[in-house]
Amino acid sequence: MKYVGAHVSASGGVDNAPLNAHAIGAKAFALFTKNQRQWFAAAYKEETIERFKQRVDELGFDPDHILPHDSYLINLGHPTEEGIKKSRQAFFDEMSRCEQLGLNRLNFHPGSHLNQVSIDECLDRIAESINMALERTNGVTAVIENTAGQGTNLGHTFEQLAHIIDKVDDKSRVGVCLDTAHTLAAGYEIRTKEAFEETMKAFHEVVGISYLKGMHINDSKKEVGSRVDRHDSLGKGVMNMDLFSFIMNDPRFDNMPLILETPDESIWAEEIQLLYSLVQ
Ligand SMILES: [Zn+2]
Ligand SMILES: [Zn+2]
Repeated sequence: MKYVGAHVSASGGVDNAPLNAHAIGAKAFALFTKNQRQWFAAAYKEETIERFKQRVDELGFDPDHILPHDSYLINLGHPTEEGIKKSRQAFFDEMSRCEQLGLNRLNFHPGSHLNQVSIDECLDRIAESINMALERTNGVTAVIENTAGQGTNLGHTFEQLAHIIDKVDDKSRVGVCLDTAHTLAAGYEIRTKEAFEETMKAFHEVVGISYLKGMHINDSKKEVGSRVDRHDSLGKGVMNMDLFSFIMNDPRFDNMPLILETPDESIWAEEIQLLYSLVQ
């Protein structure tokens, strides 16, 4: 069974996110647990938490198919003491917000070395940040998103994802989210059946398919290996619909959130329907 949705707005309160997801016919959704442009936010009110849980339940969503995304300000591999401290505090806060909402996973971009430390050192820092977050929370899996590798962002190779996971103490609470646009931009061809299988085989051999906790389903404006992160609506970018058909008919992507982060939210309902129409 496939659970497709989109990264919906939580403006006005996180308890609006399940309503927004339901309105577009989503069976899964992503959200920001707080304003993603600010470092810190006021704690949730008890009634907001209760309303969120109630709506998730009443509208038929399962926490296993909800994939919160952390703030883009956070850099868990930040090379400076001050920078890493601020990022870690904000990340611990987001992990505990997920816990409060009854959610079991938080998706984040691993981090950037900012040309101030080596790649390996930055990856070690990221793993240490994850270990600290897991010690401070219960029941929430840290889900590392692969990146396009833009600028000094890490996590664009499967080897880098594996490096981080290898240094995380509690392997039961670390996972990966593959973003189709990032995967292509990072240099992994996925647009033909052969290439897609080859890339998934490499992912399994280097990282392990059991770590896969969600997917971001995006077309890309930029070509394979461009290392530039620009999402596009399905069928409008350099992908073709074949890739989305491979995903929708592959049991490896069953029972996990498949989240659109495409730029035109006015067509998310159509894109969700389009994806379901690809199921053979
Ligand atoms: Zn992301
Ligand atoms: Zn993404």
